[in-house]
Amino acid sequence: MPLPLVYYGNPTLRKISSPVKEITEEIRKFVDQLIETVLQHDGSGLAAPQVGRLLRIFIIRYSGDDKEGWPILGKPEVFINPEILVHSKEEIVLPEGCLSIPGLRGDVTRPLTLTVKAMNLEGKVFTEEVTGWRARVIMHENDHLNGVLYIDRLPRNVRKEVDPILHKIKKHYKI
Ligand code: ZN
Repeated sequence: MPLPLVYYGNPTLRKISSPVKEITEEIRKFVDQLIETVLQHDGSGLAAPQVGRLLRIFIIRYSGDDKEGWPILGKPEVFINPEILVHSKEEIVLPEGCLSIPGLRGDVTRPLTLTVKAMNLEGKVFTEEVTGWRARVIMHENDHLNGVLYIDRLPRNVRKEVDPILHKIKKHYKI
């Protein structure tokens, strides 16, 4: 069953997630639910804190770029205890949105390329060099594990402009 999302304003989104110690049956079940949730919302990624669970797990869905250079949603992939090892000095501006901040998008500058190390659901550790959209989704989701949201990375003047919208979202989703 998909899990309910946690929205902007919920303090869970600002907390640091803990590493997964062991891939238990319960963790597998949770990952299944995370996948169902990201599929339900047609998202390109989802991190555990976005469903209220402070664990270092995220899902991404990316299977290449279309002709116009936009990302194509793909089969969900699981990253457990991810670490960003190195990232390029070269940066790129790409638009981001977030399932926890509905109705808002913003241009964010981040490194173009990075190396990520993580574990899959079988407990196998892998290292991957990623670039473009794939790198972007990974960085966005990885930020969630550290209590960081993409709106924190918007230029100050843009953030000021979107603050009233954020305020509305916060009020709307207040538990
Ligand atoms: Zn997000």
